Amino acid sequence: MTLALQSSGITQGCTCAIALYLGWIRLPVDFPMAQIRTLSTLLDDPYVEPIYAEFHPHETSYWSHAAPIAPRFYPYNRCAVQQCDVCKRVCLSYVEAGGYYVEPRIRALILPVSSTRRD
Ligand SMILES: [Zn+2]
Repeated sequence: MTLALQSSGITQGCTCAIALYLGWIRLPVDFPMAQIRTLSTLLDDPYVEPIYAEFHPHETSYWSHAAPIAPRFYPYNRCAVQQCDVCKRVCLSYVEAGGYYVEPRIRALILPVSSTRRD
């Protein structure tokens, strides 16, 4: 939550464009990995496979920009927490593994829309 709050308050432009990734997207091919460093992981226990259940109490979906960042639920429970060294924005990332593909995905770690808006 602290990192999300800090990241949400950053206004400077940056080539990482993390601020635009409000929901999960495929890692862009031009994402500047050289300026990204790993801060931590949300993986709880490396010897226990994380669950695949998702958490959507407000009828959001995996792709929704308003989907809560729920560290104990898929896919957050397997994410790396990464930070851009230039702008200090923070993002989450993991590798989606489907039947015929693997796809690195990224989502900004910022306060979700639902926490700043009254419905
Ligand atoms: Zn940046």
